[in-house]
Amino acid sequence: MEKAAARVALTVAGWLTVTVLVGPGVANAQEHPRALKELVTRLNVSDRGIAAWLEKLGVRPTGPVGERLLIVDSAGEPIVERNGGTSAVVLDADLDRVLCTPGTSAVLVHNHPSNVGLSAADIGQLSKPGVAAIAAIGHDGSVFIAAAGRGTDRDFLQARQYTQALNEVRRRLQAEWPSQNVSISVSDAQLNHLVARALAQAGIIQYWADLRGDTRASYDLAAPVFNRVVAGTAAYLRQVEKPSLSAHRFTARGSG
Ligand SMILES: [Zn+2]
Repeated sequence: MEKAAARVALTVAGWLTVTVLVGPGVANAQEHPRALKELVTRLNVSDRGIAAWLEKLGVRPTGPVGERLLIVDSAGEPIVERNGGTSAVVLDADLDRVLCTPGTSAVLVHNHPSNVGLSAADIGQLSKPGVAAIAAIGHDGSVFIAAAGRGTDRDFLQARQYTQALNEVRRRLQAEWPSQNVSISVSDAQLNHLVARALAQAGIIQYWADLRGDTRASYDLAAPVFNRVVAGTAAYLRQVEKPSLSAHRFTARGSG
């Protein structure tokens, strides 16, 4: 663990260089600002790149299906590795300490056998000061990557911000079911991705995703509905999160 921690520290410089180079991009409220796109490029999540990641994560066409976590630097080089169960990887105390150390700038890459997007617990990792980004790679090749945004409330990202987004996305999806423009199963398959998109559109996190295979096909079945749900949820979040989203602008204080 000590050796791992040292390597984390050594790799910080590379990530910081990236951050400094593209720093101003972080400030805008797009779903994937320039800083995150730089990271996506460095991680290489092209078709061939994804095959290499799944290989590194130990995903084989046959054999046991479980989650594995790789903590990498900004160039995608592994620093720490952990094996998990079928649907989660438990972070031990030593590793958690590393992720909570400011300046570590770790990128967490793990696989999702079920192909769904980043979970509440995944997004919650972004509240740790040593975590630069988290990526989930579905076994169908879909990629989901998130980083903290200007509106991230590190004390309540998972407990309040994520929960509010989740509840609102669920509510809006359920309201769409009677129209038969979206099924319950397709809603479930896309839920995590939609919540992350809404959080990003509201400026709470940064988010980049590339859907492939069945995940892409299921999204395309109801894309107009999903865009409507995401836009509506983002507007709701901007409203309820007004104080934390505008806290960085002195002039905006007191106007809400
Ligand atoms: Zn996950």
